[in-house]
Amino acid sequence: MTRSQTRLNLPGGETVPQQQETACPPWEKVAEAIEFVPDQFSRKTQPESVAREMLHCDATDVDRLVGAGLPVEDRDGVRYFDPNDLYNLGMYSHRRNTQPELAFRMLFRFAGRPVDDLLRPKTWSFRVRLECHECAGVAPWLLEGPDVVRFGGHLEEITPLTPSEGSAEYAATVTNTGARTPLVSATLRKLTRDYLHAGYRWQMIPVPMQADYALVHELGVTSCIAASLLLAERFRAAGYRAEAKRGWFTGVLGGALDLPHACVEVTDDDGVTKTVDIAKAQLAARLSADTEQFQELCLGSLYNKVIPSTASGNASFGRHECGSPQPAQLRADIRSAR
Ligand SMILES: [Zn+2]
Repeated sequence: MTRSQTRLNLPGGETVPQQQETACPPWEKVAEAIEFVPDQFSRKTQPESVAREMLHCDATDVDRLVGAGLPVEDRDGVRYFDPNDLYNLGMYSHRRNTQPELAFRMLFRFAGRPVDDLLRPKTWSFRVRLECHECAGVAPWLLEGPDVVRFGGHLEEITPLTPSEGSAEYAATVTNTGARTPLVSATLRKLTRDYLHAGYRWQMIPVPMQADYALVHELGVTSCIAASLLLAERFRAAGYRAEAKRGWFTGVLGGALDLPHACVEVTDDDGVTKTVDIAKAQLAARLSADTEQFQELCLGSLYNKVIPSTASGNASFGRHECGSPQPAQLRADIRSAR
């Protein structure tokens, strides 16, 4: 156990002071404040051992969480949980030592720095692996790939997808860039501000559930895709051309935090296509007060930690033409190329 530690070591030599346990709300209160993933979208894939590690807690704490409503499935005497539920419990636990809190803080460290670094061209080594889980044989693959040329970036050294069975890989060197292009339309700015002030709570939400953005918002919560779908609808209702688009948020630590990305592309009054990264603005605000410059950048400008794709907000990134009814599972590995 590491409970006696007062500081936690992070990669890069930084240390994070840990809050006294006595200052934390009890797990029952944390559970009460979370919207758990509804049954029809819940996938209980994480065993109790993972839950304890993620939440830095013991079996008694897990009992308390289950008692307070954390959905659980017992298989062969082992309790299993939905990873989104565990992330959200960690994020809102105020313990400062859970894996979700540490991962989000690491991921958003950039957001508190001067934003100039986010506006320059940046080159990424980009790979995606597609898997077809109910594969019916050799067939071509379809990928909604990186869409950076429209935004001043370029693609090189492309290894395209070729027809195969079961799985495939696409690779490219992707250069993207930032641009300071804040929203100019008073209407778009008001709709964006109204959304940010509506009090929706950011949570990790399974991608298939986010497509049902009305349900997500009815629960009082939000997430990148759901937020972008709703905001795009409001922009269109106000007479603007707008579409929610998916993409990749770089810097996500290898599998530790599978953070889906989406934003709204909208044609502003000045004729320029702006991107509104509403959920990142919200998330940054929640994580730290010193991220105001970054939050403003999210409202119209481009920044180089996002690689846009051609996929629309509620579409999947890839498909295998073998006839399987399931969309391809996709895993991205994006690293800084220099
Ligand atoms: Zn297939």
